[in-house]
Amino acid sequence: MQDIIEGFLKFQRHAFPERAGLFKDLANQQSPRALFISCSDSRLVPELVTQREPGDLFVIRNAGNIVPSYGPEPGGVSASVEYAVAALQVSDIVICGHSDCGAMTAIATCTCLDHMPAVAGWLRYADSGRVVNEARQHVDVPAKVAAMVRENVIAQLANIQTHPSVRLALEERRVTLHGWVYDIESGGIQAFDNRTGKFVALADNPSVRAVSH
Ligand SMILES: [Zn+2]
Repeated sequence: MQDIIEGFLKFQRHAFPERAGLFKDLANQQSPRALFISCSDSRLVPELVTQREPGDLFVIRNAGNIVPSYGPEPGGVSASVEYAVAALQVSDIVICGHSDCGAMTAIATCTCLDHMPAVAGWLRYADSGRVVNEARQHVDVPAKVAAMVRENVIAQLANIQTHPSVRLALEERRVTLHGWVYDIESGGIQAFDNRTGKFVALADNPSVRAVSH
């Protein structure tokens, strides 16, 4: 813990003064352009990967970068999505999975989660991706896990479109959805291309979209 506190002291001495003007502007307002939904995994840092500053990204992180489909008892993720889209009026939503995801590995390898009932229940929101992935052939377990990471992003892109605020924003042509998979070892990103239904290198295809108006 001491290293975290020392990190804060370093922030206060160096990083904060360098951005004093930015933080003054942000003191009473925010207007992030994007909602970024990623896994809680410590190795995927949205602001680092996208080189964004404070105020740029509205972020939701949870195990498995999951967005529960909308229902009669919406939870914290649903509330955050609604606030980002309806109140902050973000123009883009990124759902970002990643390589070596523990949640997706558990799903793809049918790991018993009886000792983690909350995780097991939460991962049910990835069921449509799991069922599709199970029906396919995979050369080995790592390939199956990698495919599950991608199928989960596709499943969550579908889930988020059940949210009224997102449906309305798509109808009004003011939001675009992006489905990404970040590779921890290489730092690369694969993005879902709605024209082909495949993931392609974002670096070579910077204009690909998952769902656009
Ligand atoms: Zn993960």
